[in-house]
Amino acid sequence: MNTLKIPFANLSAQYLHLKAEIDQAVEQVLMRGDFIMGQAVGEFEHEFARFCGAGYAVGCGSGTAALHLALLACGIGHGDEVITTPHTFIATSEAITQTGARCVFADIEENTYTLDPACVEACITPRTKAIIAVHLYGQCAEMDKLRTLADRHGLKLIEDAAQSHGAKYHGKSAGTLGDVASFSFYPGKNLGAAGDAGIVVTDNEAMARQMRALSNHGRNDKYTHFVEGYNYRLDTLQAAILQVKLPHLEAWNEARKKIAALYRDRFADLPLLLPLERESNSHVYHLYVVRCERRDELRDFLARRGIATGVHYPVPLHLQEAYQYLGYRCGDFPVAEKVATEILSLPIFPEMSEAEADFVAATVRDFFA
Ligand SMILES: *Cc1c(COP(=O)(O)O)cnc(C)c1O
Repeated sequence: MNTLKIPFANLSAQYLHLKAEIDQAVEQVLMRGDFIMGQAVGEFEHEFARFCGAGYAVGCGSGTAALHLALLACGIGHGDEVITTPHTFIATSEAITQTGARCVFADIEENTYTLDPACVEACITPRTKAIIAVHLYGQCAEMDKLRTLADRHGLKLIEDAAQSHGAKYHGKSAGTLGDVASFSFYPGKNLGAAGDAGIVVTDNEAMARQMRALSNHGRNDKYTHFVEGYNYRLDTLQAAILQVKLPHLEAWNEARKKIAALYRDRFADLPLLLPLERESNSHVYHLYVVRCERRDELRDFLARRGIATGVHYPVPLHLQEAYQYLGYRCGDFPVAEKVATEILSLPIFPEMSEAEADFVAATVRDFFA
């Protein structure tokens, strides 16, 4: 019996690969002592904006804070409605609610798990102010259709790109497809910090300026404040580590794609629904999510063979206790509800060896044998 243990991610392997550079970057910050809004923050903001092909980037303390700032910069607040998907991490809807706006859910596409533009259209009311498209699992949502809808109804289009650093849509990078975009650098994301971190990206200079001010207590200068803001700053230490990692992101995404290709090849004849990569898209496989009617059995089988898996996400947001007050019921979003019972995220991370991916593939095949 094979005794390989396959984790869901391997952050220490990534650190060891870059240890000398990361240690040096951390030491430089410690020696300079510029922990808050230090040199590395501005440098990393420039580098990440350039990576996306966007005009401006503002570092944040988390992806959730970044999304909150993006909504505020769109002028969202009390009395407004923002449409998003129920098939996402709760941070997406939290950011909406925290502006005072009401979160309105719309169902997803069966094959890509991203917002279904037709369902979005059906939810638009005179109070609707914005749409948040979540580029889920590493693949961009159907942005052309969402852009058309947003323009027709005068809505802002926001990208939650927390799972899609480096993903492309018609050749353009995630983060440049809407009015403003947020990214998370939570440690397990395609680009991960050594703690919490995030960033907002936009081509709109006025929005960038406003988000920068709001992220730092609404400051004009140290003790004058034109508005009440937040402490949403990106730590200099995190920025310094992200600066070391960013040049490796493309190669890491390529490594993820290679594992996805291996899985695709090995699973072709199995009764599994594999990730559908839209022709317009370059998918960066933050997660490799298959669908299986016997999902829980498959998950237990893999766990017994030492293979870690995940479910992203098991309970759609409209059915969470936290959102009871919104008044949704079971059956409101049939696609999201069905998908949640069948999805399984298999291990995929850049440091995964071909032998490890082979072992996962062979074990999945064993389950069906
Ligand atoms: C990770 C994630 C976030 C939140 O990011 P944090 O940095 O943990 O605050 C938001 N949206 C999605 C889709 C995510 O996956």
